[in-house]
Amino acid sequence: MASFSSTISSPRHALSPNTFVHEAKHKRISGSHCRTFPLHSQRSPICRMGFISRFERKETTKHQIFASVTDTTVDKSPEKVKLPKGDIWSVHKFGGTCVGTSERIKNVANVILSDDSEGKLVIVSAMSKVTDMMYDLINKAQSRDESYISALDAVLEKHRSTAVDILEGDDLGSFLSQLHHDISNLKAMLRAIYIAGHATESFTDFVVGHGELWSAQLLSSVVRKNGVDCQWMDTREVLIVNPTSSNQVDPDYTESEKRLEKWYSKNQSKTIVATGFIASTPENIPTTLKRDGSDFSAAIMGALFRAGQVTIWTDVDGVYSADPRKVSEAVILKTLSYQEAWEMSYFGANVLHPRTIIPVMRYDIPIIIRNIFNLSAPGTKICHPSADCYEDDQRLESFVKGFATIDNLALVNVEGTGMAGVPGTASAIFDAVKDVGANVIMISQASSEHSVCFAVPEKEVKAVAEALQSRFRQALAAGRLSQVAVIPNCSILAAVGQKMASTPGVSATLFNALAKANINVRAIAQGCSEYNVTVVLKREDCIRGLRAVHSRFYLSRTTIAMGIIGPGLIGSTLLDQLRDQAATLKEEFNIDLRVMGITGSRTMLLSDSGIDLSRWRELQKEEGVMADLEKFIHHVHGNHFIPNTVVVDCTADSLIASHYNNWLRKGIHVVTPNKKANSGPLDQYLKLRALQRQSYTHYFYEATVGAGLPIISTLRGLLETGDRILRIEGIFSGTLSYIFNNFIGSRNFSEVVAEAKQAGYTEPDPRDDLSGTDVQRKVIILARESGLKLELSDIPVESLVPEPLQASASAEDFMQKLPQFDHELAAKRQIAEDAGEVLRYVGVVDVVKQEGEVKLRTYKKDHPFAQLSGSDNIIAFTTTRYKDKQPLIVRGPGAGAEVTAGGVFSDILRLASYLGAPS
Ligand code: ADP
Ligand code: ASP
Ligand code: MG
Repeated sequence: MASFSSTISSPRHALSPNTFVHEAKHKRISGSHCRTFPLHSQRSPICRMGFISRFERKETTKHQIFASVTDTTVDKSPEKVKLPKGDIWSVHKFGGTCVGTSERIKNVANVILSDDSEGKLVIVSAMSKVTDMMYDLINKAQSRDESYISALDAVLEKHRSTAVDILEGDDLGSFLSQLHHDISNLKAMLRAIYIAGHATESFTDFVVGHGELWSAQLLSSVVRKNGVDCQWMDTREVLIVNPTSSNQVDPDYTESEKRLEKWYSKNQSKTIVATGFIASTPENIPTTLKRDGSDFSAAIMGALFRAGQVTIWTDVDGVYSADPRKVSEAVILKTLSYQEAWEMSYFGANVLHPRTIIPVMRYDIPIIIRNIFNLSAPGTKICHPSADCYEDDQRLESFVKGFATIDNLALVNVEGTGMAGVPGTASAIFDAVKDVGANVIMISQASSEHSVCFAVPEKEVKAVAEALQSRFRQALAAGRLSQVAVIPNCSILAAVGQKMASTPGVSATLFNALAKANINVRAIAQGCSEYNVTVVLKREDCIRGLRAVHSRFYLSRTTIAMGIIGPGLIGSTLLDQLRDQAATLKEEFNIDLRVMGITGSRTMLLSDSGIDLSRWRELQKEEGVMADLEKFIHHVHGNHFIPNTVVVDCTADSLIASHYNNWLRKGIHVVTPNKKANSGPLDQYLKLRALQRQSYTHYFYEATVGAGLPIISTLRGLLETGDRILRIEGIFSGTLSYIFNNFIGSRNFSEVVAEAKQAGYTEPDPRDDLSGTDVQRKVIILARESGLKLELSDIPVESLVPEPLQASASAEDFMQKLPQFDHELAAKRQIAEDAGEVLRYVGVVDVVKQEGEVKLRTYKKDHPFAQLSGSDNIIAFTTTRYKDKQPLIVRGPGAGAEVTAGGVFSDILRLASYLGAPS
C-alpha cells in the first residue's frame, strides 16, 4: 500500500540510506496499483497526484504511463465533479490544545458534527506539543544525540495510545500500520541526519509536518466512526507555496486552486479534515507555513473554498484586549477589524498567526475565534469594520482595542550630524541589516535626521551592529556618524486600534498612563496606518507598562495595589475601614483598592490578587510568613497585575521612613501618618520633596499633623494659590488639649494626667506627650511645608515633664511622683485666671521670623483656643489673605485611631484621584 505521507513526499535528499531507497521504490510500485484500504481510501495514491520527490520522479519515468492513463481517464470522465465554492462551506481550525488528548479529539468530532453547515472543511494542528517534539528530534539528531531514538519512541507511543483509545477494528489497524510505517521512515531519515550532523530545511519541514498528518487521520476516522462521510486531505497535495527570502512562504493561489479542484474531483465529500501547517513547493517538495502556521492554512483554505466563515478554535474565549497570561484583567473583544487583528497578532498576540488575515480579507470572510473548552462563549469576530457585525462605539477608550508586547529586542541607534539631508543613509543602514538577515521590527527616525533607530531581535543585534560598524567605518572615522549604539534588553509595547493614532487624546492618554507608572519610553513609532502606536521600553518595565496602559483604557476603575506596614492600632483600623468601604468605592467611585500584603515586624501576609480583608487577622495567623521588608516590597510592587502601588507606613519607625526615598524612586507611592521622615534630617526631607516634584510618584502625609483634619492640604492650598503664610499657631496634641481643657477649677494637674492616661488618651508613658517632642515634630513639619529650612533642634520646646522626673525609671514611678510638682502649674493657672486667661500648650511657626517653638501660652477666655473641649486640635493660619484677627481656623478631633486611619484613607483616595479616578 502506498504511503503518501512518507513515500511520495520524501524530500529529495532524504534517500541516502539504501533501505530507504528500496522502500521508496517499493511503495511507489505498490501505490501504482491503487488498491483501496478502508482508512487509506481517502488518500490520493501516487498514481493520481504525482506528488513525488525529485528522486522519485526520476525513478518514475517508467511508470509514467500509469499517471497519464489515470489522469486522462479522470479528465474525460463526464461525471467529474467541480468543487462547489461559496457560503455553503464553513471552515473550522482546531489548534493543538483542542486535539491534545483522545478525549479532546472526540470532543472536536462532536463540534464538527453539530455544525449544520452544508459543507465543512476542518483544518487541524498536530496534537499539542507534538510539533515541538518533532523539532526536538531534528535538533537531537543533528547534534548527534542518540536520544533522538527514544524521543521518536515517545512520539510513536503518544499517537499509538491515542489511536487505541479512540479507534477500533480496521480503522485502528490501518492507522497503526501507517503510523509504524511513518515512524520507521522517520527513523531512517533521522539516522541520515545523525550521520550527516546536519538537516536541510526541506528534511526538517518534512519531519515536523508529521504531527498534522497523524492528527488529521485520527480526527477524520473518529468523524467517520460517527457515521458521517468524511475525507482527509494531505494539504501538501493541494496547497502550493513559494518560499521567500524572509523565512516565510507565499501561497500560489492559482496553482493551489487547480490542485484543489483536482483533489476534490476524486475525493468529493461534504466533510473534509485537512492538515494544517504543511504545504508543498511548486516542485512538490514538502514544506511548512512555519511555526503556528495552521491558522494561516485555515485562512488560505477558507479563501480557496470562498467559505462563509472561518472559525479558529483554541483554548481561550476569544481575542483578549491583552495577553491574558500577562494581564489577568484583560477582556474579550467582541469584534475586531481585519487590520486590528493583524496588528495585534503581528505585535505578539499569538492567538492568531499574523498572516491569517490577508487571504480571508480578500473575500470578506469573517474569522471567529472561539474556545473549544467553553462553547457558551460567543468568541471574537474579526471582520470588515463596515460589516454589520462590527461594533464600534465612539468613546475615546474604544479607539484602542488591545495591547500586545514583543520581548527580547535590542534597539540600534545610528547617530551623527552627517546623516541629515544625505540621501541613501537609511537605505545603506537597512541594506547592511538585510545582509545579516535580521528582521527589523520597528523603525523610528527623528525629523532632524540626526539619528535613525530601529528594533531587532536581541539575538541578531550583535551581527547587525558589526555589519553597521564595518559598513560605516569611514563615516565613523570621519565623524560624519558619531556612533552606532546598541541598547539591549528592550521590549515593544504596541497599542492597536482603528484610527487610534488619528484621534486626538488617545496617544496622550497612553503616554500619560506610562508616565504615571513611572516608565520611561525609549523610542516611539506610529505607523501611518494609524492603527498602531508602538513604544520601546526597558524589558523589565514591559509587563508593568502593559498593565498600566491596559488598566487605563480597560479598567474603568483605578486599581491600586497596597502594602500596609504596621498593622498596629492605626494600621488595623485602616484595614477595617478599607474592608467596610471597598465595595462602595469600587461600585460608586470606580476605585479598586487591593491589599497585596500586610507586614508587621515579625510576620507578613502576602497575596497575589488581594487579601480578603474580612479575614486578614486569621489569615495572618494561618498563612503569615517571616517578615522581610525587601521581599514584601518586591511582592507588592513587582509581582502582580496592578499598575499602581502604594505603601502605607502605619508605624512610627524611622527605619521604615528611611526607605521612602528608594520606594518613590521605584515609582511606589507612599502614604503615611509616620512623622519620622518629614521631621528627620532636613536634607532627607528636601530630597523626598524634590523627588515628588520630579516624578509622577506621590507622597502623602496628611495624618502626620492633626490626624484626619485637613491641615497639610489646607496649607498647600493656600501656598499653591499664591497666599503667603505669616504664622501658624495651634494646639497639635490631642492629649495636651484634653489635659488643659480639663485642668480647671481646683483640679490638680497630676489628677488630670492620670484621668487622661486612664481614658487611653496618652502614650503608655505620659512623658512622651508631656515632653512636647511630638508637638515639636508637627511644628517642624508645618515649618518645612511653609518653606522654612529648619532642623528639629531649631525648635525650642517647653517640656511639661518636671526636670527631676525626666530620668524617672518607669511610667508608674513618674505618675507616682508627679503630684509633688502640681503646685507649679497651679500657680501658672492662677496667674492666667486672674488675667481672664487660660493655659494652652501650643506649637507656633513664625514664618516671618523664620522660627518655630513649642510652649505653654495663655489665651483670653474668648479666644478660639480657649473654647476647646475634649481632645480637639485647633490650628490657626494667619496669611496675607487671612489677616491677623481673622485667621483661617481648622478645628476638630485630632487624635485617635479612627480619625488618624481616616486621614490615611483619605490620602489613599487622593492618590486614586491623582491617578485618574473620577471625581
Ligand atoms: P493554538 O494551539 O490553539 O493555536 P496558541 O497557543 O497558538 O493556540 O494561541 C492561543 C494562546 O494565545 C492563548 O492560550 C493565550 O494564552 C495566547 N494569547 C496571547 N495574546 C492573546 C490575546 N490578546 N488574546 C487571546 N489570547 C492571547
Ligand atoms: N503544529 C504547528 C506548530 O505548532 C502549527 C500550528 O499548530 O499552528 O507550529
Ligand atoms: Mg496558534
